[in-house]
Amino acid sequence: PVVTRFAPSPTGYLHIGGARTALFNWLYARGRGGRFLLRIEDTDRERSTPEATAAILKGLEWLGIDWDGEPISQFARRDRHAEVAQEMLARGNAYKCFATQEEIAAFREAAKAEGRSTLYQSPWRDAAPETHPDAPFVIRLKAPRDGATVIEDAVQGPVTFRNDQLDDMVLLRSDGTPTYMLAVVVDDHDMGVTHVIRGDDHLTNAARQAQIYAAMGWDIPVFAHIPLIHGPDGKKLSKRHGAVGLEEYQAMGYPAAGMRNYLCRLGWSHGDDEFFTDAQARDWFDLPGIGRAPARLDFKKLANICGQHLSASAETDLMPEIEAYLAATGAPALDETQRNRLFAALPFLKQSAKTFVDLVEKARFATISRPVDIDEKAAKALDAVSRGILGELTQPLQSASWSREELETAVGTIAEMHGLGLGKIAAPLRAALAGRTATPSVFDMMLVLGREESLGRLSDQAS
Ligand code: GLU
Repeated sequence: PVVTRFAPSPTGYLHIGGARTALFNWLYARGRGGRFLLRIEDTDRERSTPEATAAILKGLEWLGIDWDGEPISQFARRDRHAEVAQEMLARGNAYKCFATQEEIAAFREAAKAEGRSTLYQSPWRDAAPETHPDAPFVIRLKAPRDGATVIEDAVQGPVTFRNDQLDDMVLLRSDGTPTYMLAVVVDDHDMGVTHVIRGDDHLTNAARQAQIYAAMGWDIPVFAHIPLIHGPDGKKLSKRHGAVGLEEYQAMGYPAAGMRNYLCRLGWSHGDDEFFTDAQARDWFDLPGIGRAPARLDFKKLANICGQHLSASAETDLMPEIEAYLAATGAPALDETQRNRLFAALPFLKQSAKTFVDLVEKARFATISRPVDIDEKAAKALDAVSRGILGELTQPLQSASWSREELETAVGTIAEMHGLGLGKIAAPLRAALAGRTATPSVFDMMLVLGREESLGRLSDQAS
């Protein structure tokens, strides 16, 4: 059975690259009836914070990525890591190195002066155990010096590392704490991880990790190192481009389903499919579909995909998402009337909105109450003549059945009487109903608001 994991370091927010890595691992496991685990790599005690862990969990939850079991703390497993280092020592695959920092520095300097490789070669590698002094030591891997370590990467293909360019890495520090390299391998092994999908900045680590697997005689997982995400200009992703926390994407109003779809397409493809459902993503996602070139962040594409997800969503699914979005922006909760009006407006609002920011702005007419706040631009549409026309509209609208047809007839008749196009007469209507110039259609708004509220808003502005 497939087991994947997401192993973030809790040193900052969950950024878009991390979110994509999590998504790929999650899709790969979920599409194969496998397990998806979460491991918090909190061994760097100075930089790891509980707030960062909380932000990562929150980000994953928002994105709809669920993990199996409890999140695993890497730091909590340090005794197990040390135990494995001791085991390697006992097997002769590792050794105690008593070299001091000064000795290592002197080695490097001499090597440099003589034009040799500066990779440290410890004299303790082949020292007999009885020669070991009673002094602080680190445990180093007795790495192969000849030949090569080859990573059969599912994305990059075979990648060869010459062993004479990899030093005897430290497994356990002199204070008994494990190094990152050891911890990752022990954890992945103990967790039964079968597939490691992560950023290609970890490719060199994979070679070192493969040596630890080999030393322990453990099966190496399938590695899939994915190219990093680049900015729209093809350069390394920066804050300016969107290398911001996932919560900022939430604040920008992107729906989670659209975000999942877009992130999935960032570096992976399935023919020409751009828009797909979660079920399709689970069915289709595979490793051969991952590209070797860095994907570029494209906000226009993101917005388009999000727009398609909004249109395709059921109103009953959208409502709680919109309310969660509003709550996240600090907006007050909707009351019964506002909620009912918003729900009634969703069938047309969702057709044109690309984000919740956009949708909520278009839904403004449904969530405000009298007296309507009218902005400067809308106020221009309410001159004396327009106010008079609004007054004339009251009577026919009062007696119209509140159907689209009759509303159109009533407004059309008045427009004709004044020799005005429908657009001209719609402007003051918009202003009175919504207080804004960019709104949904006046008939859509009137149908949602109902007779009493609509006529109330019109008569507030009519003369
Ligand atoms: N903790 C590492 C990171 O956040 C990931 C290590 C891994 O996936 O093996 O970059």
